[in-house]
Amino acid sequence: MSWSRSVLLAAAVVTLCTSSSSRGEIVALAITEVAAGVFVHNGVHAEASPANADAIANIGFIVGDNAVAVIDPGGSAKEGRELRAAIQARTDRPIRYVILTHVHPDHIFGAAAFRDDHPDFIGHGKLPGALAQRGSYYLRRLQDSLGEIAEGTEVVAPTRFVSPRLDLDLGGRRLVLRAHGPAHTDNDLTVFDEKTRTLWLADLLFVDRIPVIDGSLVGWLKELGGLTALSADRAVPGHGPAAVEWPAAVSPEQRYLEAVASGTRAAIQAGIGIANAYRQVANSERGHWLLFDEYHPRNVTTSYKELEWE
Ligand SMILES: [Zn+2]
Repeated sequence: MSWSRSVLLAAAVVTLCTSSSSRGEIVALAITEVAAGVFVHNGVHAEASPANADAIANIGFIVGDNAVAVIDPGGSAKEGRELRAAIQARTDRPIRYVILTHVHPDHIFGAAAFRDDHPDFIGHGKLPGALAQRGSYYLRRLQDSLGEIAEGTEVVAPTRFVSPRLDLDLGGRRLVLRAHGPAHTDNDLTVFDEKTRTLWLADLLFVDRIPVIDGSLVGWLKELGGLTALSADRAVPGHGPAAVEWPAAVSPEQRYLEAVASGTRAAIQAGIGIANAYRQVANSERGHWLLFDEYHPRNVTTSYKELEWE
């Protein structure tokens, strides 16, 4: 091969690489190491939009000596790819587990980005039913809000289940996964990293952003009773700062849920209809929460349907 031809070939290879990287540009997600080997991407307090690619929840990963576990792959395939890039920038350990903490799209719609890693996709026993019921609706809604940014996003079903406990050995560190009764949804998981005593609560814990009641209000308060008895050095909420003190950080959420429970029971007893009940319930909580007006009315409607048969 002549010198000039090899130069031309090299130039062609460079051009190819450049054009493919600009076409599918993947920027690693910003992450914080909240404890040794425990990484969190802090979601923004907003609704899904093309600008945020549905990166609105706290998601992340834990690195062991032999393997990586992803705890929620993110809100879109794009966020999933960016999380995967952040993992690969920090470790060459294989991604063996992708934990899907519950059915909500902002937490799990990034799963397709991890298919090539062939991980176990781990979920609650009730997750497949919830995905069958809502998965395609959630996907259409994401496509409507994100447009072409949603490209590649798919509903990925779990391949392995937690019932009620599953231990994962990452090599030199064990994760304890627990499946909870109906609370935030009817398919919530939590993860405890024994090595750093980090309790990853996903959406069983909201900080700053108003909690969304999509499972059972009574059940959620009951699950919190059990969880607050666990001792941990820190907690990772599903929305809010990347890490918070446990159990101190759960107090506002407990107070809000209790206010919704007592206020809704009072509205039912007073004969106030379901459509108007939210106006009377837990108004003292307005001002304590982001997105209060967006979510509080439907929290009260959901709770009304649950509590009116008590
Ligand atoms: Zn959720």
